[in-house]
Order: sequence, then C-alpha cells, then structure tokens
Amino acid sequence: VLTAVSVSQKKHKLWVVYSPGLEPNADDLRLLKDFHQAGTRDFFLHYQPKYSLSDNAVKGAEALLRWQHPQLGLVPPSKFIPLLEETGFVTQVTRWVITETIAMMARHNLCRTGLVISINVSTRDLTELGFVSFMRHAVKDIDPHCIQLEITETGLIDDSERALYVLSKMNDLGISCSVDDFGTGNSSLSYLSKFPVSEIKLDRSYVYDIANNERNHKIVKSTIELAHTLGLSVTAEGVEEHETVEILRDMKCETIQGFVFSRPIPESDLIEFLKSSPKLKASGEA
Ligand code: C2E
Ligand code: MG
Ligand code: MG
Ligand code: MG
Repeated sequence: VLTAVSVSQKKHKLWVVYSPGLEPNADDLRLLKDFHQAGTRDFFLHYQPKYSLSDNAVKGAEALLRWQHPQLGLVPPSKFIPLLEETGFVTQVTRWVITETIAMMARHNLCRTGLVISINVSTRDLTELGFVSFMRHAVKDIDPHCIQLEITETGLIDDSERALYVLSKMNDLGISCSVDDFGTGNSSLSYLSKFPVSEIKLDRSYVYDIANNERNHKIVKSTIELAHTLGLSVTAEGVEEHETVEILRDMKCETIQGFVFSRPIPESDLIEFLKSSPKLKASGEA
C-alpha cells in the first residue's frame, strides 16, 4: 500500500509518495521539509583518505557528504541519504557533490599527483536520464581517470540493464567504478564482475573484526581471492586496528580505508595530510 503524505510549506506543498518499505515518521518528514529549506551552505564534504598496501602510499580519498542542520547539528548521511534516495531528491545532491569534488581537485591540482577521488552515487542517479551527459560535462576539464564512482551492490542489481549501460559509458569516459558495501546485498561476485567495475569495497561489517572472528576472516580471505581471480582489486573499508591491516596485507588486499589511517577530514586537512605522505608501518618495522 502506498501512502501519500503532504508536507505543508509556506509557499507550496510537497508531495512525497512512500514505498511500502519506508514508514513515514515525524523525524523523516521534518528532515525532508528542512532539506527543501536548506541552502547549499548547510552542506559540505569531508574526504576520507585511502591507503594502498601494495604501494605503501596514499592512493586517494572518498568524498562523504555532511549536513550541518541549523537546529539538529550534524545529521549523518545514513539518516538523510536513504530519504533522499526514496524521494528522488538525491540526484540533485549527487550533482552538487560531483561538482564540488571536481572543483576541489582542480583547486589543488590533485589529478597531477595520480590520486583517485571517489564519489558515492545511488541507484537513482544511474536511472536519471541526464546522468551520462552530466558526467561527460563534469570531467571535461580534468583527467577522468582520477575520478571513481562508488555504487552499492543493490544499485547494480535493482536495474541491472540501466546500470550496465551507464557503467560502460563511464568506462568510455575513463571514469572507473567500484562496488560499494560489497557483501551486504546477497549477490554473487561472479555476477557483479559482469559489470564494468574494477574494484569491490568489502563492507565494514565483514572487515572490522577479522582478527577475532574466524567466519569473517574466511569470508574476507576467499572474497579477496575470488575478486583477484576475476581481475578485480579490493578495498577493505572500516579498518580500525593495525592487526587488521597486517591480516589484509597477508591476504593481498590492495587498498584499505578506515580510522586506523584517517577519519573523514575537511579539505584543508586533506591537503596537509597528502603533503605529509603518511605511511602505515609494515609488519616487522619499528
Ligand atoms: P560508505 O560509502 O560505505 O562510506 C563509508 C562510511 O564508513 C562513512 O560513513 C565513513 O565515515 C565510515 N567509516 C570509514 N572508516 C571507518 C572506520 O574505520 N570505522 C567506522 N566505524 N566507520 C568508518 P558516513 O560518512 O557516515 O557515510 C555513510 C554512508 O552514507 C556512506 O557509506 C554512503 O553510503 C552514504 N553517503 C555519504 N556521502 C554520500 C554522498 O555524497 N552520496 C551518496 N549517494 N551517499 C553518500
Ligand atoms: Mg562509499
Ligand atoms: Mg562503503
Ligand atoms: Mg559502508
């Protein structure tokens, strides 16, 4: 049963149609209403560095959206992104994130350093008809090879025909694609590898406790092996402990991301961080 809810605003009414899975609650409605009254000044990006275990160097960073709400303070993306996805408003947000990230890269000449910056896109973005031409225009003044799109596993299977089309267009442009939150969507790696993606990002829920959880250790190890067999590289997200880094290094995981290396940080901190060329110690090093 679809429920139509109207959010009254001073000038106009906003109709939101909820799918059966989403229970409209007062908090969500307030966030949606506030989103429409918010200006871009209420949003900003943090960037979380990624570390290459194979090169022992910073590999790039991921742009992560932040909403500074005037009354509620910092609202986490896990609270508002699903709402924006559900209502379709996420597409305008994604365009803003892409434009801001590319402007940041241009300001600091990041492409010249060979770093790759990744941006999260949702299923809604892939099904939006103007997305391919928007991307073509967005990367016209930078090297597209330094942009990567992160698409969740469900984003690929919800409308796989469309996803296949958009991803191959991104490949033509030189933009690489990664499967985000891998392991949470019940699809197989062999199926996902049919999409033109170059990397999978192992979800934090599998990665964080591999030092103590034998089951997750086995899942992560065999997933990395299968990914390599299929020609995909692997990023492990949510790495918090040095012990985990060493295990992932032994498993030949190419890239890690997590608090052990860096939290998501503002632009100015990212630039300082990149200049300092930080290294994670390899096993046996003092
Ligand atoms: P994600 O893309 O899987 O991003 C990773 C999330 O894990 C980020 O949360 C990051 O801060 C967090 N994280 C990273 N390392 C660690 C760690 O070592 N330990 C722990 N506990 N957490 C870690 P964040 O920034 O709250 O974002 C949550 C999700 O919201 C993202 O998951 C992504 O799906 C979505 N999101 C964020 N920004 C955007 C955006 O611009 N567009 C879209 N479509 N989605 C976004
Ligand atoms: Mg991501
Ligand atoms: Mg992820
Ligand atoms: Mg995740």
